Amino acid sequence: MATVIFATNALLPDGWARNVRVTQSDGVIVKVTSGTTAEAGDIRVSTLLPALSNLHSHAFQRAMAGMTEHRIAGRDSFWTWRDLMYRFTRQLTPEQVEAIAAFVFMEMQEAGYAAVGEFHYLHHQPDGAPYGDMAELSARILAAADQTGIGLTHLPVLYTYGGAGAQPLAAGQGRFSNTVERFAELLDAVRRAAQVLPADTRVGIAPHSLRATNPADLAEVLSLANGNPVHIHVAEQPREVADISAWLGARPVEWLLHNAALGPDWCLIHATHMTAAETENLARTGAVAGLCPITEANLGDGPFNGPGWLAAGGAFGLGSDSNVRISLTEELRTLEYSQRLRDLARNILVNGEGSVGQALYTGAALGGAQALGRKAGQIAAGHLADLTAIDADHPTLCALRPDQLLDGLAFAATDQVVTDVWSAGRHRVQGGRHVHRDAIVAGWRQAVAGLLASV
Ligand SMILES: [Zn+2]
Repeated sequence: MATVIFATNALLPDGWARNVRVTQSDGVIVKVTSGTTAEAGDIRVSTLLPALSNLHSHAFQRAMAGMTEHRIAGRDSFWTWRDLMYRFTRQLTPEQVEAIAAFVFMEMQEAGYAAVGEFHYLHHQPDGAPYGDMAELSARILAAADQTGIGLTHLPVLYTYGGAGAQPLAAGQGRFSNTVERFAELLDAVRRAAQVLPADTRVGIAPHSLRATNPADLAEVLSLANGNPVHIHVAEQPREVADISAWLGARPVEWLLHNAALGPDWCLIHATHMTAAETENLARTGAVAGLCPITEANLGDGPFNGPGWLAAGGAFGLGSDSNVRISLTEELRTLEYSQRLRDLARNILVNGEGSVGQALYTGAALGGAQALGRKAGQIAAGHLADLTAIDADHPTLCALRPDQLLDGLAFAATDQVVTDVWSAGRHRVQGGRHVHRDAIVAGWRQAVAGLLASV
């Protein structure tokens, strides 16, 4: 059934337009008319934007937010985080996985995201044995997406080794473990389970990182992608770069450039520690850099080489990764501020001249959609109706012209300016609230109470 949104201002592919009617049918935008008038039955909004896709999430980690921020003498700074993560992953039940994911997806939608790439590595029972239905935990992620209405690109993870050089998995990693052969079975089961979800649902693949696989396995698993998105963590921390260099004789991005057919269907998560040559050569492949600014700041990963990436025409998108905080506005500003703090300069992440907020937002909209295999990221006929409405009359935005609104969003506002979000036409955020908020929050409270009682 067709529905129509009437927006006082809308950001179209060629810029801002006034008095715009956007007609959507079966989740797809079928008509966009600007300089027109509202008609009876139109859903009226202030300012309509193409919605962002959140390209990288580990939903369950949301339950740890705020629990790993104290220092312990004599321990490396990751110890508290990793220790708690493994204690959590040993206890999580399928019901908890689903309830936590639903809460996180709802928060993403209320922040203005229409879709998520769930990089899912929790597959098996606590003792490492597969569930009766091998795809049990993926099915829980699919159910959470269905409950919330968020657009899902599910990314089952291949995780075989505990470190560079094909080291065995550590205690606590049994729930992640798969050979390529078992992963192929799992992937088939996930693809079957996803068939009952809305048509915009995608299933990609995610070799976890170079350190969790080996060259032969990686080549084999890539043959299973069938044109769907391929995501991999890469070059997040200097230690990983050193370990991979010592093992494979090349830095991780350098190695991938020479040994994998990188292209627009790839998303390299973090890509923080790259040389200038790696940055330029990776950008030219058309792969998306999956940037996770809040998590990268929280974990002390370091700043991305934004100027080099943009100069080479690189695509990028945003992910919330550890989900320590779900905030679209804060991801945007943290990304730009990481560059300013490093370079002692202002207004960095825009090629040439122009609005930084608009460059960040439109770049992340297109790159995020590309990374998730969604035809989205702009308000145009033939694209998915992934749409976010913000209130330009909100006190934090009301003084701004339309061409300043995305600077206001990125640097001055919070996510509270988001009024409505559609995911492939599913209108689940209305008046700033998810329509199923109360039930989803109740499920989350029950899940985290049960989880804390068990760890
Ligand atoms: Zn991650």
